[in-house]
Amino acid sequence: MKSVLIGVGQAGGKVVDALSDFDAQNGFGAVIGSLAVNSARSDLQSLPLDTVLIGGSRVNGHGVGGDNELGTEVMREDSQEVLGAIDGRVTARAEAIFVVAGLGGGTGSGGAPFLVKELKRIYDVPVYGLGILPGRDEGSLYQVNAGRSLKTLTREADATLLVDNDAWRSAGESLESGYEAINERIARRVGLLLAAGEAVDGVGESVVDSSEVINTLHGGGVATLGYAAAEVADDASANVNVVTSTTRRALRSGLSLPDTTSAERGLLVVAGRPEVISRKGVERARSWMEAELDTMEVRGGDFPLSDGRLAALVLLGGVANSDRLDGFLERARQAAREEEEREEEDAASAFQEDRLDGLL
Ligand code: GDP
Repeated sequence: MKSVLIGVGQAGGKVVDALSDFDAQNGFGAVIGSLAVNSARSDLQSLPLDTVLIGGSRVNGHGVGGDNELGTEVMREDSQEVLGAIDGRVTARAEAIFVVAGLGGGTGSGGAPFLVKELKRIYDVPVYGLGILPGRDEGSLYQVNAGRSLKTLTREADATLLVDNDAWRSAGESLESGYEAINERIARRVGLLLAAGEAVDGVGESVVDSSEVINTLHGGGVATLGYAAAEVADDASANVNVVTSTTRRALRSGLSLPDTTSAERGLLVVAGRPEVISRKGVERARSWMEAELDTMEVRGGDFPLSDGRLAALVLLGGVANSDRLDGFLERARQAAREEEEREEEDAASAFQEDRLDGLL
């Protein structure tokens, strides 16, 4: 799926960089344009991408801190410049635009939903959000910001693919030191999904194409991506169980939004050397997904890759039930309530101080 990637904020820029790199290193050619947008100059300087600095007149290149309302403002004020920079990248070949952001921060959290809305007004291709949710140990400001941003992003975008920052983190890896590893995992999984529709070798009826990705995301809401890989025998007939068990692992323990148990639509992409992909295995795994997710709409196909291993990539669109998402929303609501209470207390004590000042 020929895609243009726009990273907003620090996480957005780094993930777009990792994705562009993965695509180029593998020669897939699915990423046809990329851009990083930020209000913090130093975050842009470290990226080997074309960049646009926003909010210069307001924050002078120093970023918006965690203020996502200011993030929306600076994107709004400089949106013409951002759209101008995107314009040359969304060529006639483009099939989708992805706006990538960490939803818990300021610039990406506030700016990405606004940018998505503008892009949807201008372009006919679908505009997707790729949003990173804060891990459960991140502070309450991150949770509040992400809750607000998620609400707007899902309303504006054609679909919002969510990656929970706890999902693809290795045990014992701290979040800070783990960003690079997490970003690489995001790049491999999302990069394979984009490349799946680009397959050129071994073109056959069973090969996945871009329209299947687009149809799985069509209908909007939240989407999640899962991945698992395994060693395989040289002969497809010996690999029926490898395909089904790898698919099960991708869905049960490999999702970007863990504990998603039902969705409106699904897509199973089995990647590997064509001669080792068991057709019977793909069919069985696809039916299993339909039963597991409680939907009749699970597409399936192959992605011929010269890789020695076999990988199952599952994309779920219109997520209906996810304990992880519910847990996050509850955290965000709770943090928002606490913030309101703090503000009320601050206002009350300021009032008391004013009265005391008046008495003295
Ligand atoms: P912004 O620059 O103001 O948009 O803020 P950030 O992009 O730093 O957003 C903060 C959120 O993104 C937090 O939830 C961080 O955990 C997360 N984050 C920051 N950098 C990265 C990164 O490189 N990778 C990932 N996966 N998450 C990140």
